[in-house]
Amino acid sequence: MFPAAFDYIAPGALDEVLSLLSQHGDDAKVLAGGQSLIPLLKLRFASPVIVIDIGRVDGLEGIRQENGHVRIGARTRHRDVESATDLRGTLDVLLDAAPLISDPLIRNMGTVGGSICHADPAGDWGAVMLAVGAEFVVRSSGGERVLPAVGFFEGPFTTGLHADEVMTEIRIPVGAGRSGGTYLKLERKVGDFASVATAVHVVLGGDGRISSAGIGLCAVGAQSIKATAAEAALVGQTPSDAVIAEAARLAGAAAEPKADIRGSAEYKRDVARVFVQRGLHTAINRAQGATA
Ligand SMILES: Cc1cc2nc3c(=O)[nH]c(=O)nc-3n(C[C@H](O)[C@H](O)[C@H](O)COP(=O)(O)OP(=O)(O)OC[C@H]3O[C@@H](n4cnc5c(N)ncnc54)[C@H](O)[C@@H]3O)c2cc1C
Repeated sequence: MFPAAFDYIAPGALDEVLSLLSQHGDDAKVLAGGQSLIPLLKLRFASPVIVIDIGRVDGLEGIRQENGHVRIGARTRHRDVESATDLRGTLDVLLDAAPLISDPLIRNMGTVGGSICHADPAGDWGAVMLAVGAEFVVRSSGGERVLPAVGFFEGPFTTGLHADEVMTEIRIPVGAGRSGGTYLKLERKVGDFASVATAVHVVLGGDGRISSAGIGLCAVGAQSIKATAAEAALVGQTPSDAVIAEAARLAGAAAEPKADIRGSAEYKRDVARVFVQRGLHTAINRAQGATA
């Protein structure tokens, strides 16, 4: 199918993007990697009056560590995260998730910010961002807001982003302590969207206890889910099989999957439990092997 007609503009400056968004509001759509928006246009699920391509705006790409945060430009491609091997030991979960997103063609085009703003409940970055406690920097012509990942995903393809805002950066706190994490994804075949996926990130204190824990669930609800009860069950504990099993049980209980061709709700909930259990073992082993 062909998309409905729309105007296309590719501004060279962020201010111009913001001014166009403030002028057109809901009639405008930002274009980043186009890997979700272009199919939506072709299927006519979206029919914007104007498409604003942010591909020529400087300063929206790259990964850097600064002031206790890893800062990822919103237009950074999935492939760039996959290649950011210096994140190993700090944010393992990002490095494990990136190569599981679709195939190399999509990863070379699709962007982290685009995926987060698209808010597909089966999108991988949502669960990862909930696990690592990310914040999203968004700009409009009225100024800047910093939105926690918690609460950002409001429902399928629905977020706290306003129509006149563009996401510019993802900020992930990296504090003291030894950290480890991982991302596990069940897919029907290589390159598929998740049937179920889980993101886990833990930090160990000097005494070996878990000082913070983040668990995100993908494709088992109307939006990416943060398994808060499971996280709370881990904090302050000395890692053990029993502690991990109980946290995994709570994470499975937090899943709200629907039965579909990928499996029954019971099956998906149990996969979430098993993946969180395996993921926590890996994350804790990695953190125990890390240097503070
Ligand atoms: C065949 C196929 C398989 C895929 N498999 C997976 C998978 O396994 N896992 C997965 O997570 N994803 C998958 N995807 C989706 C892919 O990761 C997309 O790249 C991603 O969802 C959207 O990123 P994008 O940069 O392409 O955004 P676009 O398609 O350009 O935009 C998507 C939406 O986000 C908005 N947007 C984009 N950037 C911004 C911004 N900076 N500020 C405000 N709004 C913005 C757009 O207006 C649009 O509404 C797949 C896509 C395809 C086509």
